[in-house]
Amino acid sequence: MDCIFCKIVNGEFNTEFVYENEYAVVFKDINPKADIHLLVVPRLHVESLNEIEDELLLGKLMMTVKAVTKKLGIKSFRTVINTGKEAGQEVFHLHIHILSGGIN
Ligand code: 5GP
Ligand code: ZN
Repeated sequence: MDCIFCKIVNGEFNTEFVYENEYAVVFKDINPKADIHLLVVPRLHVESLNEIEDELLLGKLMMTVKAVTKKLGIKSFRTVINTGKEAGQEVFHLHIHILSGGIN
C-alpha cells in the first residue's frame, strides 16, 4: 500500500518522533499552520474516522494527545481531525492535528 504515513510509521524517512507508544507515533507537520503543529498517527493503517471501528484505539489516540502535550509542556492547544476530501483531508491515514501558538 502506498501510504506516506505508513512509511513514516515504519521509519522509511527517518522522521523524528517527538513521542511514541504502542499505538501511535507523533511527529511535526511538514507544513506547520501554527507555532507548534504536531500529528498523532496510529501505527495501524485506518483511512479516516469514517472507517475506524476500534474504540480502544480512538481512546488511546486521544490519550496520546494528552501524553505528548504534557511531555512538551503544551498547556493550550487545538485538536483537529479532517475526515474526507471535502473537509480538507489530504492524507488518508487517520491522524489528529495538534496546533498551538499563532492560531486564532
Ligand atoms: P490532512 O489535510 O490530511 O488532515 O493533513 C495532512 C497533513 O500532513 C498536512 O498538514 C501536511 O502538511 C502533512 N504532511 C503531508 N505529508 C507529510 C510528510 O511527508 N511529513 C510530514 N511531517 N507531514 C506531512
Ligand atoms: Zn497508512
